[in-house]
Order: sequence, then C-alpha cells, then structure tokens
Amino acid sequence: MKWQTIEAARTLLQTETGAVVRDWGGRIPIALVFPNSYTVGMSNLAMHGLYHWFSDLPDVACERAFATLDRREDRREPIVTLESQRPLRETSVVAFSISYELDYPNVLTALRRSDIPVFAHERRRFDPLVLMGGPAVSANPAVMGPIADAIMIGEAEEALPGLVEAGRFVLAQRRDLALDWLARLPGVWVPRAEQADRIKRQRVRDLSRRPFASSVVCPKAEFGNMRMIEIARGCVHACRFCLATRWYRPYREMDPQHVLELAREACGRWPKVALVSAAVSDYRKIDTLVEGLRSEGIAFSVSSLRAAPLSETLLEGLAASGARTLTIAPEAGSQRLRDAIRKGISHEDILRATAAAARLGFGSLKLYYMVGLPGETDEDVAALIALTREVSERFGGKVIVAVTPFVPKAHTPWQRQPMAPESVLDERMARIRAALPSDSIDIRAESIALARAQAIMARGDNALGEALARAANLSPKRVERVAARAGLHVEGYLAGWNTDRPLPWRMVDVHGSPVGEDEA
Ligand code: SF4
Repeated sequence: MKWQTIEAARTLLQTETGAVVRDWGGRIPIALVFPNSYTVGMSNLAMHGLYHWFSDLPDVACERAFATLDRREDRREPIVTLESQRPLRETSVVAFSISYELDYPNVLTALRRSDIPVFAHERRRFDPLVLMGGPAVSANPAVMGPIADAIMIGEAEEALPGLVEAGRFVLAQRRDLALDWLARLPGVWVPRAEQADRIKRQRVRDLSRRPFASSVVCPKAEFGNMRMIEIARGCVHACRFCLATRWYRPYREMDPQHVLELAREACGRWPKVALVSAAVSDYRKIDTLVEGLRSEGIAFSVSSLRAAPLSETLLEGLAASGARTLTIAPEAGSQRLRDAIRKGISHEDILRATAAAARLGFGSLKLYYMVGLPGETDEDVAALIALTREVSERFGGKVIVAVTPFVPKAHTPWQRQPMAPESVLDERMARIRAALPSDSIDIRAESIALARAQAIMARGDNALGEALARAANLSPKRVERVAARAGLHVEGYLAGWNTDRPLPWRMVDVHGSPVGEDEA
C-alpha cells in the first residue's frame, strides 16, 4: 500500500473530532463505505447516523471509507478505512451507503481496488460480506443484485444489530451461515437465497428512538461547519416524479424539544445547525423550533424549503442566521405542468417567496426546475423562461437556475414514463440558456449524458448490473456505452413502459412494514 493513501487517511482523521477509533481485537470490523468523496460523504446524514449507531454497539469496530479522500492518494490503490488505515478486504463487512445511482460505478471500482471479487457468487469464505443500502439501491435493487451479498430494503436503523450478527459469522469464516441469517431478517434481500417473493420495505415508527444527526466534526466536509439534524422524514406532498415521498412514507417528525436538545449539544463544536428534511417548511412546529433556536442563540440553516407554506418566522430566522441564499423548487414554469406534477404551489406562492427573500436581504435566490417532464410542451418551456424573468426582476439580486432532466424513478406514479429524447432535452436546455440574461441569471444545467446514465441505472436490471460489473474503467459517463457494448437495448431502459411489462424492482413491497419498539 502506498504511503500517500495511508497519509491521506491519517491526515483527514486528525482534522476531525468525535471519530471512534477502536481496537479490532474481539470485535466485528465493519467498513461503512460512501461511494463518493470524503467531502460529500461526511456531508451525508445517513453516513453520520449509521456510523454513530454502529459504533454504539460495543462489539463492533466501525470504520469509514470513501471512494476518494484527497488529491494525494493513489486512486488505483486499495481503499483504506479512515480510522485504522486498513484495506477494506481485512474487514468482515463492507457496507455501502448509496444515495444516488451515479455512484454505482464507484461501488464497483471500490471493490476492484480492494481486491474483493465484484460478483457476489465469486466471493469465498474469507472475503468480507458486501452489504448495500440507501434509497437508490433499495428502491431498485436489481442492478446491484449480481454484486451485493445482501441489500437492505428501506430504513436500516432497527436492522443494524441483525446485520452485525451476520458479520460475526463471516469472522468465523462461515459466509454460508451469514447469508442464511441475512435471508431471514425482515427487509433484507439476499439475491442468491430463496426468500419470499417480495421483500417488505422497512420503516421506523419513531425517529427519536435513533435520531440521525452529525456525530463527527469534519471541517473538511462540504457542510463541515454545521451539525445536521434530521427533523422529519418523508413528505406530506406527493409530487408524481418524486421517490422521496413514496420511499419514506409515512411522513414522520421529531419532537421539537428533542431537536432543540440535539442542537444544544452542537454548541461549542459546530458554529451552526442544519435542519434536515424533505421540506423543512412543512414541519408542523417550525415556528416553535425556530423561536427555540433563536432564544438560545443557535444559528441554523435548512436543507430545503417549499415556496408554500413558508413561515415568516422561519425566513427571518434564516436571515438572522446569516443565510445568503434562499432555494425554492417550482420544478415547472406553467401552472398547468405544476398541477400535472402535483407540485401544489402556485405562481403567487413563488412570487410571495421571492418578495420575502428580497425584503429579508437574501443575496441570491435559487430556483430548481426540471425539463423533459411527461406532457411538457414548448409553451411550458416558454412559461419557465417567463417565470424566471419575472422572479429575477422582482428579486433584484442574483438568481441561480438549476435545470435537471426528468428521470423516471422506481415506485413513483411516473415510473413507467419515458425519459425525453436527448435531442429534445438539448433543444430545451439551449432555449432556456439563450433566453435568460447571463449577467443576472446564473444557469446550471445538469449534464444530459449523466442524467441518461442515471435513468438507465434507476430502471436497470440484473443484466445491466452484470455488464457494469464486467467493465473495466467504469465511470458514470461510460455507463451507456458499456450497456450498449454488452448488447443491451439502452433505449429500452429510457423508453415508456407498458403496464404489462414486468418491473425490475418487483421484488420490493414498497408499502412495507413499520418497525419499532411498540411492535416487537
Ligand atoms: S415537495 Fe419535494 S420531497 Fe415532497 S413530494 Fe414534492 S419533490 Fe418530493
């Protein structure tokens, strides 16, 4: 192993406060892997939460690992854990937390670099168990089916002790028993085992039983200056393209007093807290929470907001905490298309949020849109341009416009809808760019090639997973080419699907099972 790799891990560890470094003797070594950079990974609430809850188990040595640490490491070298700088293959369990389909290539590269067989069926008794979880891979586990030993379907908190037990079998070189054990756990899909036809999505009843909050101070992470605290999970709205609302049903909230306690614990360690949920403005007691934070002098920011409902108390609190940018997501320019999406916000709501942002002195306003939505017409694109101009004029400051192509996702009402053809997306993106003045409006368009790769993997199947696993030098940009070279019908993944076409994720029962102390 090259010294640069070890040095990069050691240096990052030294910048942190709160990491749990344990002797492996008599413990089950678990690598919790985020298949992207350290900077992004340690800004991910699931990484913090899982690290904390795994480390809470005394017979576990949980260590974190990332696809990349910094520029000094050799990216062909085996990946090492941060805490003890040991290669992944020395652990008993390699648990990937995957938020996003575009990170699948990094999962495969991480296994290759670590000399762990990429195909599950090639692993031998001394190889670590490869587990995966996270919204992308558990909504459609088919693509990673040939690669994972097991995939957690739904929320993992309550399953952690069971997953750790599987690691104990691996430590004793009894992979066979580990897989049998996993196949009997609720919500765990073991692709090579005989199980019920459908695996129930797991969801916890009470968020406060195992709250998710930043557990390590990581100054080098993207949001390293704030303690992230999950205040709610799920969403009360039901936008037709959105996986989050389906996947995290039902909507659940933390008690504001509990959130305040977690925020108080941050004092002296983080300068700010970040309130995290799908739409912080929907939190029922948002005013109480904001007043509580302000009365204790705790500065805060939020993960995302909706244009309505939007409490004045929340906006004032954000401004007083030094927030410079207000972000809202109209998603579409015309009311007709917003209604078709079921976005539930009006033109007036957007203008009201704009006026509030101007009045409270926010320096910039960020608008999220999608293009290529089912049923979108040229008039809808014209409406997007007109709305952005109107917002820009009324706001007066810098407006940032983020435009992403619509990607159909598993379990959503639009799971069978097509992705718009590349030529249509190109033309619409170009039209938006040409029509909006670049001096006052900053347009950030997502790469269409990457969006196509994301869509292919979001609706992919076992065959796609096998093709990706066989490819050398895989990257998100190469996914489409790799699939085509393997003889797969790429446009088939992107096209509209008839209702009689079997879905690759049919093994997932999205309605799921609630788990929690009151259902033991
Ligand atoms: S408001 Fe946001 S999180 Fe909620 S359903 Fe719509 S897009 Fe999803």
